[in-house]
Amino acid sequence: MVFRSVLLFGAPGVGKGTQGELLGRVPGFVHMASGDMFRALDADSEMGRRVRQYSSKGLLVPDDVTIGIWKDHLRHRVEQGTYRPDTELLVLDGIPRNTAQCDALSKHIEVLRVVHLKASSIDDMVERLKKRATQQGRSDDADESVIRRRFEVYDQETSPVLKYYDARLLSEVPAAGLPAEVLMRVLEAIVPVYAASFSNPL
Ligand code: ADP
Repeated sequence: MVFRSVLLFGAPGVGKGTQGELLGRVPGFVHMASGDMFRALDADSEMGRRVRQYSSKGLLVPDDVTIGIWKDHLRHRVEQGTYRPDTELLVLDGIPRNTAQCDALSKHIEVLRVVHLKASSIDDMVERLKKRATQQGRSDDADESVIRRRFEVYDQETSPVLKYYDARLLSEVPAAGLPAEVLMRVLEAIVPVYAASFSNPL
């Protein structure tokens, strides 16, 4: 089965999670964030410990682990009926995070659009991450050196994902402004592809 998807893409702290959550409330859209998937693992389990070894340092979790957890999560959601691939669009947030993951996912997902949320400055994003660390208790964001590392990883490993997909699939969306304003731009980018591939879910 091939899952019809859009990718929410952008540097750490740019607001992917906020937009993903908002989109997830729209009938027909299902938000799936790799970071949430990892944070939901039992911290004392073998897998939870493995993931934390990397995430606590701002490094990417190894691809085989990431893809394995993603597939399990997806299967679970389909079995539970919280994601219905025939009628719902998958909004992927945080995955694929490098081109090897793009390759690994290519047989599972059909990418209908890549939405690149673009921030105005790195300083804005760092501030946002620090605020989030206190508000949401995200230990990986509490330490400024870990935050800086996450930006390096983004530049070196994640940003090449943008070139992996056909340029015609790409929508560049300014990430500044109210959540509702950014949402409006994101919807402008993805509602047309949604409408072309799915019928009205209600
Ligand atoms: P943010 O939204 O701030 O970019 P996430 O919540 O998406 O961060 O991810 C938190 C951490 O989980 C990352 O720093 C990384 O260690 C790990 N992670 C998330 N997604 C992936 C992925 N697709 N591949 C590898 N590691 C990942």
